[in-house]
Amino acid sequence: MKLIFLGPPGAGKGTLAVKAVEILNIPHISTGAIFRSAIADQSLLGLKVKAIIDAGKLVDDETTIELVKERLVRDDVKTGSILDGFPRTIPQAEALAAFSEADKVVNFDIPDSSVLERLGGRRVCRKCGHNFHVIFDNPKKEGICDYCGGEVYTRDDDKAEAVQKRLEVYRTQTAPLIEFYRNRGILVDVDARPAVDEVVENFKKALGRS
Ligand code: AMP
Repeated sequence: MKLIFLGPPGAGKGTLAVKAVEILNIPHISTGAIFRSAIADQSLLGLKVKAIIDAGKLVDDETTIELVKERLVRDDVKTGSILDGFPRTIPQAEALAAFSEADKVVNFDIPDSSVLERLGGRRVCRKCGHNFHVIFDNPKKEGICDYCGGEVYTRDDDKAEAVQKRLEVYRTQTAPLIEFYRNRGILVDVDARPAVDEVVENFKKALGRS
Protein backbone atom coordinates (compact mmCIF):
# COMPACT_ATOMS: atom_id res chain seq x y z
CA MET A 1 0.00 0.00 0.00
CA LYS A 2 1.36 3.42 -0.98
CA LEU A 3 0.48 6.00 1.66
CA ILE A 4 1.08 9.72 2.02
CA PHE A 5 0.94 11.37 5.45
CA LEU A 6 -0.28 14.95 5.20
CA GLY A 7 -0.70 17.47 8.00
CA PRO A 8 0.90 20.53 9.59
CA PRO A 9 4.23 20.33 11.41
CA GLY A 10 3.65 18.85 14.86
CA ALA A 11 0.57 16.86 13.84
CA GLY A 12 2.38 13.69 14.92
CA LYS A 13 3.00 12.28 11.43
CA GLY A 14 6.46 10.97 12.35
CA THR A 15 5.26 9.32 15.57
CA LEU A 16 2.31 7.73 13.79
CA ALA A 17 4.55 6.59 10.96
CA VAL A 18 6.64 4.53 13.41
CA LYS A 19 3.43 2.76 14.56
CA ALA A 20 2.17 2.41 10.98
CA VAL A 21 5.41 0.68 9.94
CA GLU A 22 4.71 -2.00 12.60
CA ILE A 23 1.10 -2.40 11.44
CA LEU A 24 1.66 -2.39 7.68
CA ASN A 25 5.26 -3.58 7.42
CA ILE A 26 6.26 -1.06 4.77
CA PRO A 27 9.12 1.49 4.96
CA HIS A 28 8.73 5.01 6.33
CA ILE A 29 10.25 7.69 4.12
CA SER A 30 10.57 11.10 5.75
CA THR A 31 12.09 13.82 3.56
CA GLY A 32 12.72 15.91 6.70
CA ALA A 33 14.71 13.02 8.27
CA ILE A 34 16.70 12.53 5.05
CA PHE A 35 17.57 16.24 5.03
CA ARG A 36 18.51 16.20 8.75
CA SER A 37 20.78 13.21 8.23
CA ALA A 38 22.44 14.99 5.24
CA ILE A 39 23.01 18.02 7.49
CA ALA A 40 24.54 15.83 10.23
CA ASP A 41 26.84 14.22 7.63
CA GLN A 42 27.76 17.67 6.28
CA SER A 43 27.20 16.32 2.76
CA LEU A 44 26.76 18.67 -0.22
CA LEU A 45 23.00 18.28 0.10
CA GLY A 46 23.20 19.02 3.84
CA LEU A 47 25.24 22.18 3.33
CA LYS A 48 22.80 23.33 0.66
CA VAL A 49 19.63 22.88 2.75
CA LYS A 50 20.70 23.68 6.34
CA ALA A 51 19.95 27.43 6.38
CA ILE A 52 16.63 26.92 4.55
CA ILE A 53 15.45 24.27 7.02
CA ASP A 54 16.62 26.18 10.11
CA ALA A 55 14.55 29.16 8.93
CA GLY A 56 11.43 26.99 8.57
CA LYS A 57 11.27 27.44 4.78
CA LEU A 58 10.85 24.74 2.14
CA VAL A 59 13.70 23.19 0.18
CA ASP A 60 13.19 23.77 -3.56
CA ASP A 61 10.89 21.37 -5.43
CA GLU A 62 13.54 20.16 -7.88
CA THR A 63 15.96 19.00 -5.17
CA THR A 64 13.21 17.40 -3.10
CA ILE A 65 11.52 15.61 -6.01
CA GLU A 66 14.88 14.20 -7.18
CA LEU A 67 15.58 12.90 -3.66
CA VAL A 68 12.24 11.10 -3.44
CA LYS A 69 12.51 9.70 -6.98
CA GLU A 70 15.88 8.16 -6.07
CA ARG A 71 14.46 6.71 -2.85
CA LEU A 72 11.36 5.22 -4.53
CA VAL A 73 13.31 3.01 -6.92
CA ARG A 74 14.86 0.92 -4.14
CA ASP A 75 13.71 -2.69 -3.69
CA ASP A 76 12.23 -2.20 -0.22
CA VAL A 77 9.34 -0.04 -1.52
CA LYS A 78 7.98 -2.74 -3.88
CA THR A 79 5.20 -3.62 -1.42
CA GLY A 80 4.47 0.01 -0.53
CA SER A 81 5.73 2.94 1.50
CA ILE A 82 4.71 5.73 3.83
CA LEU A 83 5.71 9.15 2.54
CA ASP A 84 5.89 11.53 5.49
CA GLY A 85 6.45 15.20 4.70
CA PHE A 86 6.30 14.71 0.93
CA PRO A 87 4.63 16.08 -1.15
CA ARG A 88 4.43 19.54 0.41
CA THR A 89 3.56 21.59 -2.68
CA ILE A 90 1.27 21.10 -5.69
CA PRO A 91 4.24 20.75 -8.11
CA GLN A 92 5.65 17.99 -5.84
CA ALA A 93 2.26 16.22 -5.83
CA GLU A 94 2.02 16.44 -9.62
CA ALA A 95 5.56 15.11 -10.04
CA LEU A 96 4.84 12.24 -7.65
CA ALA A 97 1.61 11.32 -9.46
CA ALA A 98 3.63 10.96 -12.66
CA PHE A 99 5.97 8.32 -11.20
CA SER A 100 4.10 6.75 -8.26
CA GLU A 101 0.41 7.40 -7.55
CA ALA A 102 -0.61 6.96 -3.89
CA ASP A 103 -3.38 4.56 -2.84
CA LYS A 104 -4.43 6.72 0.12
CA VAL A 105 -3.54 10.09 1.59
CA VAL A 106 -4.00 10.37 5.35
CA ASN A 107 -4.74 13.94 6.42
CA PHE A 108 -3.82 14.45 10.10
CA ASP A 109 -6.14 17.17 11.30
CA ILE A 110 -5.06 19.38 14.24
CA PRO A 111 -5.55 23.04 15.26
CA ASP A 112 -2.62 25.51 15.42
CA SER A 113 -2.87 25.80 19.24
CA SER A 114 -2.05 22.08 19.66
CA VAL A 115 0.75 22.33 17.11
CA LEU A 116 2.39 25.16 19.07
CA GLU A 117 2.18 23.20 22.32
CA ARG A 118 3.63 20.05 20.75
CA LEU A 119 6.48 21.67 18.84
CA GLY A 120 7.48 23.97 21.71
CA GLY A 121 8.18 20.93 23.90
CA ARG A 122 9.47 18.53 21.26
CA ARG A 123 12.97 17.10 21.69
CA VAL A 124 14.60 14.78 19.17
CA CYS A 125 17.40 12.23 19.31
CA ARG A 126 20.23 13.36 17.06
CA LYS A 127 21.21 9.72 16.37
CA CYS A 128 18.03 7.65 15.88
CA GLY A 129 15.49 10.47 15.37
CA HIS A 130 13.14 9.35 18.18
CA ASN A 131 10.79 12.14 19.30
CA PHE A 132 10.42 13.05 22.99
CA HIS A 133 8.39 15.80 24.68
CA VAL A 134 9.28 17.81 27.79
CA ILE A 135 5.79 17.35 29.26
CA PHE A 136 4.33 14.16 27.78
CA ASP A 137 7.37 11.96 27.14
CA ASN A 138 10.67 12.96 28.75
CA PRO A 139 13.73 10.70 28.30
CA LYS A 140 14.53 8.83 31.53
CA LYS A 141 17.96 10.51 31.70
CA GLU A 142 17.88 14.18 30.74
CA GLY A 143 19.37 14.85 27.32
CA ILE A 144 20.03 11.14 26.58
CA CYS A 145 17.92 8.96 24.26
CA ASP A 146 16.30 5.96 26.01
CA TYR A 147 16.64 3.86 22.85
CA CYS A 148 20.16 4.47 21.49
CA GLY A 149 21.97 6.71 24.01
CA GLY A 150 22.21 9.55 21.45
CA GLU A 151 21.99 13.24 22.34
CA VAL A 152 18.44 14.59 22.73
CA TYR A 153 18.18 18.17 21.43
CA THR A 154 15.75 20.87 20.24
CA ARG A 155 15.56 21.10 16.46
CA ASP A 156 16.47 24.63 15.28
CA ASP A 157 13.26 24.68 13.26
CA ASP A 158 11.21 23.90 16.41
CA LYS A 159 12.19 27.28 17.88
CA ALA A 160 9.33 29.79 18.08
CA GLU A 161 10.16 31.98 15.07
CA ALA A 162 10.75 29.04 12.72
CA VAL A 163 7.55 27.32 13.90
CA GLN A 164 5.48 30.39 12.93
CA LYS A 165 7.16 30.37 9.52
CA ARG A 166 6.52 26.63 9.07
CA LEU A 167 2.83 27.07 9.91
CA GLU A 168 2.54 29.91 7.42
CA VAL A 169 4.32 27.82 4.76
CA TYR A 170 1.99 24.91 5.57
CA ARG A 171 -1.13 27.07 5.13
CA THR A 172 -0.07 28.66 1.86
CA GLN A 173 1.83 25.84 0.13
CA THR A 174 0.85 22.48 1.63
CA ALA A 175 -2.80 22.81 2.77
CA PRO A 176 -4.01 23.12 -0.89
CA LEU A 177 -2.98 19.45 -1.23
CA ILE A 178 -5.97 18.50 0.92
CA GLU A 179 -8.37 19.53 -1.86
CA PHE A 180 -5.99 18.20 -4.52
CA TYR A 181 -6.22 14.68 -3.05
CA ARG A 182 -9.87 14.97 -1.95
CA ASN A 183 -10.75 15.65 -5.59
CA ARG A 184 -8.90 12.48 -6.56
CA GLY A 185 -11.02 10.53 -4.07
CA ILE A 186 -8.08 9.13 -2.07
CA LEU A 187 -8.02 11.42 0.99
CA VAL A 188 -8.99 10.15 4.46
CA ASP A 189 -9.15 12.46 7.51
CA VAL A 190 -7.76 11.43 10.89
CA ASP A 191 -8.31 13.47 14.07
CA ALA A 192 -4.74 13.97 15.34
CA ARG A 193 -5.62 15.76 18.61
CA PRO A 194 -5.90 12.76 21.01
CA ALA A 195 -3.02 10.79 22.56
CA VAL A 196 -1.00 8.52 20.27
CA ASP A 197 -2.87 5.25 20.95
CA GLU A 198 -6.20 6.82 20.05
CA VAL A 199 -4.78 8.37 16.90
CA VAL A 200 -3.46 4.92 15.94
CA GLU A 201 -7.03 3.57 16.30
CA ASN A 202 -8.42 6.47 14.23
CA PHE A 203 -5.78 5.72 11.62
CA LYS A 204 -6.64 2.00 11.47
CA LYS A 205 -10.34 2.82 11.13
CA ALA A 206 -9.61 5.27 8.30
CA LEU A 207 -7.77 2.47 6.45
CA GLY A 208 -10.54 -0.04 7.21
CA ARG A 209 -8.20 -2.13 9.36
CA SER A 210 -9.76 -2.02 12.83
P1 AMP B 1 9.79 17.73 8.68
O1 AMP B 1 10.70 16.85 9.47
O2 AMP B 1 8.87 16.97 7.76
O3 AMP B 1 9.07 18.73 9.54
O4 AMP B 1 10.73 18.59 7.70
C1 AMP B 1 11.70 19.47 8.21
C2 AMP B 1 12.08 20.49 7.14
O5 AMP B 1 12.66 19.83 6.01
C3 AMP B 1 10.91 21.30 6.57
O6 AMP B 1 10.54 22.40 7.38
C4 AMP B 1 11.51 21.74 5.23
O7 AMP B 1 12.44 22.79 5.42
C5 AMP B 1 12.28 20.49 4.80
N1 AMP B 1 11.42 19.60 4.02
C6 AMP B 1 10.97 18.37 4.39
N2 AMP B 1 10.19 17.84 3.44
C7 AMP B 1 10.13 18.76 2.44
C8 AMP B 1 9.46 18.82 1.19
N3 AMP B 1 8.66 17.81 0.77
N4 AMP B 1 9.63 19.93 0.42
C9 AMP B 1 10.42 20.94 0.82
N5 AMP B 1 11.07 20.97 2.00
C10 AMP B 1 10.93 19.89 2.80
